[in-house]
Amino acid sequence: MTVVHGIPKQSQYDVSSVLSYVRQIVDDVRRRGDTALIEYTKKFDGVDIDSVELGSDAKIKCLEGLDNEVKNAIDTVYELLTKFYEEFKPRDFQVELGGVKLGIMWKPIGSVGIYVPGGRKPYPSTLLMAGVPAQVAKVHRIYVASPPNKIGCVDPAIIYVSQLINAQSIYRVGGAQIIAAMAYGTETVKKVDKIVGPGNIYVQAAKIIVRDVVGIDGVEGPTELVIIADESADPNQVALDMMAQSEHGLESPIVLITTSQKLALAVENLIKDSKGTFYIHVVESLEEALAIANELAPEHLSLHINEAYKVLSSIDNAGAISAGTSPPALIDYIGPNHILPTNRWSRVRGALTVYDFLKPIAILFDDKNIDKKILRAAETLARYEGFDFHAKSIVMRHV
Ligand code: NAD
Repeated sequence: MTVVHGIPKQSQYDVSSVLSYVRQIVDDVRRRGDTALIEYTKKFDGVDIDSVELGSDAKIKCLEGLDNEVKNAIDTVYELLTKFYEEFKPRDFQVELGGVKLGIMWKPIGSVGIYVPGGRKPYPSTLLMAGVPAQVAKVHRIYVASPPNKIGCVDPAIIYVSQLINAQSIYRVGGAQIIAAMAYGTETVKKVDKIVGPGNIYVQAAKIIVRDVVGIDGVEGPTELVIIADESADPNQVALDMMAQSEHGLESPIVLITTSQKLALAVENLIKDSKGTFYIHVVESLEEALAIANELAPEHLSLHINEAYKVLSSIDNAGAISAGTSPPALIDYIGPNHILPTNRWSRVRGALTVYDFLKPIAILFDDKNIDKKILRAAETLARYEGFDFHAKSIVMRHV
């Protein structure tokens, strides 16, 4: 265990440090297709696979033995998330302003590849978090990719969720290699319009490398947690939340910022035998704690403070916030979403949602009664920019 007194100075996880290494994998997959995928699976996952896609017989075999209790749990979360995203999804919008109709029409993305981490532990919950909003958005074709387990299968619960979300194919390949394959296409892997999903440093670096040809959702690397706690917090609950997020791996920074020296000591004592990269920082005031958290822009922010809802409006940067009686781990399993920005990306984007699978198409029509002032404004701006035909085409229908 490492406990540092203070806050992390920089991310433990520097994607740029592996970019040139990962670029070689990406280029190789682009050149050699399926052969490269099979070789990298042997090299990095230690598994021999004879095909990239899980065929229908293999799916049945790999699904065998999946516990009904797990299936029921998946069904429960699937239903909850489907209801949430049906309620949340945007509606087409139209308004008449200044005598002209303006609108936004939402259309689904044609095809999406969902990366489901599986290197150390399988993450069927991640497939629910990406697959359900994709399905609610009515994405035409959903492809799922995840590293194989030791017997060359994809985890059975991931296969089960793939069926619920109507995935076209499941690829049993992980890492940067499958990101490259979904971006450029191979003999087996379909080239997609967008790739989403979390994963380790190699997966995130590959997403950054291929984003000139494919849409990506952002950087969602090793999980991060910042807890703000005051003297009212229960040290057992704080310690458990910290240990829970550190289960994802030692590269995940887990930070406690507290106004209580007593709590800091109690928590340090409770986590001392646990594996993780822990930081504990004592501050003078809640305002100071909030300012530091906004600067760290964490993936998960957890508030163990009195009347937490009162400070929600002071939080500017966080992928997800859990407050009151709700632990961050509950977000991991029931949402609204656990696919969240890391590496301070929560400064500019938030959780994955149905919006990541939709495009707003701008619409303008019926300008025959357009307000003359607005028409002139458009004409003037076109002439100012030196686009005379633009200006003429704008006014000619109104002379
Ligand atoms: P993973 O599926 O992301 O990566 C495993 C793959 O990495 C392997 O299949 C292999 O192909 C490749 N790989 C391994 N070592 C390599 C090497 N030396 N060179 C090149 N490629 C190599 O699984 P993981 O490693 O267990 O990581 C999952 C991560 O996802 C965790 O850190 C977890 O915190 C994170 N996560 C993040 C979020 C989020 O929203 N931010 C959500 C869920 C999970």
